[in-house]
Amino acid sequence: MANPDRGVLIAGNWKMNHTLGETERFFSELKAKAPQALPAGTAEAFRSGRLRGCLIPPQLALERSLRLARELPFPLEIASQNAHWEKQGAFTGEVSGPMLQELGIRWALVGHSERRQLFGETDETARKRSESLLTQGFVVLFCVGETRAERESGQTHAVLSRQLSGALPERGKGAASFLDGRLVIAYEPVWAIGTGLTATPEQAQEAHQALRGMLDERFGPEAAAKTQLLYGGSVAPSNIDSLLACPDVDGALVGGASLKPESFLALLAAGARRCP
Ligand code: PEP
Repeated sequence: MANPDRGVLIAGNWKMNHTLGETERFFSELKAKAPQALPAGTAEAFRSGRLRGCLIPPQLALERSLRLARELPFPLEIASQNAHWEKQGAFTGEVSGPMLQELGIRWALVGHSERRQLFGETDETARKRSESLLTQGFVVLFCVGETRAERESGQTHAVLSRQLSGALPERGKGAASFLDGRLVIAYEPVWAIGTGLTATPEQAQEAHQALRGMLDERFGPEAAAKTQLLYGGSVAPSNIDSLLACPDVDGALVGGASLKPESFLALLAAGARRCP
């Protein structure tokens, strides 16, 4: 059963996949298949806020996705895959919070391991993004996670602690409001992303418990208890139930399995089963 203070969030990260035409087809199938695919009680779980769904398409598909999401029989948040910390300026290739807000986008992903590994994102730039976006009113899905080498050399907790403290504003800088639902932490072990190697439920729970302990140490038990922690890394309809059964796993951030309407619906259905 989902923790009643936190509920369940299922977020699909499309990365650099799906053209506008493919986006249209995805949403049209999602709409047609949802009534059969989602179990009874899903509408109530969405209505009460215990279940939330989110899709993170490429920037060019944000506006279209937002429009198509409004036609679905269930609520679906649309999030940006990234955003700059400055509101405007000479930052070729970036988009800003006000640009996204003008479209109606209120959620953003920050610090994904592909940004860190392939595009030079550092703890410092991820921190600047999350702090600025939280201050601008966004919900931020902030990614943390260790590489295989870091896990094998026993550094997992140290890495998570370093990345997490980067994501968090200083105590007293309005952190309480961020930690009351607007900052979501996604634990994504780098070795599990796109590899088919999922962390075991025990590994996921152990890391999530450690992250919640770090939140508790820094901001106290109330903030720690309220913050949603998602697991990401080769989540699929076949393994999501055992991951969501972990007491500190409050949802999933999913790449590959969010690209097809059937599997995305199956993930949402798993979230709904956790929110009776
Ligand atoms: C991701 O993109 O955040 C991710 C976890 O990808 P995948 O589910 O494909 O491993």
